[in-house]
Amino acid sequence: MNLKDLLDNNVDKTLSDYKWHVLRQTIIKRLLSAGNATITELSLDLQSSVPTVTKAVNELLSEGYMIDMGKVANSSGRRPSLYSINPTCAYFLGVEVGVASVSMGLQNIKNEFVSIEMGASFVLKNTQESLMDFCKLLNSFIEDSLVKRDMIVGVCINLSGRINSMEGFSYNYFYKENRPLIEIISEQINLPVHLENDTRAMAFGEFTEGVVDNEQNVIFLNYSWGVGIGIITDGKLYYGKSGYSGEFGHSTIFDNELMCQCGKLGCLETEVSGWSLVNQFREAINEGKQSKVKLDENLVSLQHRAIIDGAVKLEDSLCVDLVTKQSDKMGRYLSILLNIFNPELLVIGGDFAQLGDYALLPIRVALKKHSLGLVNRDVTLKRSTLGRRAGVIGACCIVKEKMLSLY
Ligand SMILES: [Zn+2]
Repeated sequence: MNLKDLLDNNVDKTLSDYKWHVLRQTIIKRLLSAGNATITELSLDLQSSVPTVTKAVNELLSEGYMIDMGKVANSSGRRPSLYSINPTCAYFLGVEVGVASVSMGLQNIKNEFVSIEMGASFVLKNTQESLMDFCKLLNSFIEDSLVKRDMIVGVCINLSGRINSMEGFSYNYFYKENRPLIEIISEQINLPVHLENDTRAMAFGEFTEGVVDNEQNVIFLNYSWGVGIGIITDGKLYYGKSGYSGEFGHSTIFDNELMCQCGKLGCLETEVSGWSLVNQFREAINEGKQSKVKLDENLVSLQHRAIIDGAVKLEDSLCVDLVTKQSDKMGRYLSILLNIFNPELLVIGGDFAQLGDYALLPIRVALKKHSLGLVNRDVTLKRSTLGRRAGVIGACCIVKEKMLSLY
């Protein structure tokens, strides 16, 4: 029993065998997209006779792809059986690679976590050694999960920066000129691998499992160490030509002569981001301002979280002052996105979302002040509900979609 085989269309079959194969696939996809069903419901939805569907369902039950949930009452007084996908018939691995840690989650086909590890210690470097360490971490996580490797349909790995998902290249981390990164990792972990930009995966997580209800036009802001956006238009992730859309943080907006991490001067991130927050905090301390927060020099890429915690947990005046000023500025530049995209929902995600009203209120006021009235009226502002799990959940949902073509 392996769902990969059932979903594989590259099979050498006669026409009648192929039709039977497609019917079995369609039953599985119907159960996944619309939930549990009786034989009569499947027969109606699939436009196939009750005896044919019954035969296919019996096969799928005996092979372990489906389970019988027992009898249900219906209006005619009969009690037909209700069938469900077997949650253990396939698994998806979602992985988020941060600068100082890796988070991994294994979900069954009903999007339930069977194993999750957030923030496993790891140092992301552009070296072969770091890449091999990463693959070792993945292999250990898979082995510890006790799920057989051949039951995992695929893996989605989120990395920050420029990712070409179609070709499987990462241009900021683990870049290899001659070979797609997905091939190298796939060889090491013996599973199909998909690469995704971290912010886009978070956006998709919120879209499928998080704060998004029925909205189809959504901007997701990843306001963390860096700043990026995920764009959903008409219910689909927007990639752009090569997958580099959403680099909002590297819009050169300011004449401040400050060098950005990307090498350009005056990007949005130079004044509005986690790393610029850390610089602003240091400058304020050097000018003699007081704060209860002490930055840990061993965890540079997490220092902004200490300032965010300082505002939320300690109500530290300097921290509150810095984050609210940044959020006001962020709102001003987000208003440009509202004017361009006219979204119905703007989701504030990433580490700054932990600030709650300290971020959301200044952003809301600045949006009202700077965006066009009609555009502002259309948009609802919400905070991410998945928090730091958004990326891992999104990665699992993306690999599920890729493999099952469900959404
Ligand atoms: Zn930049």
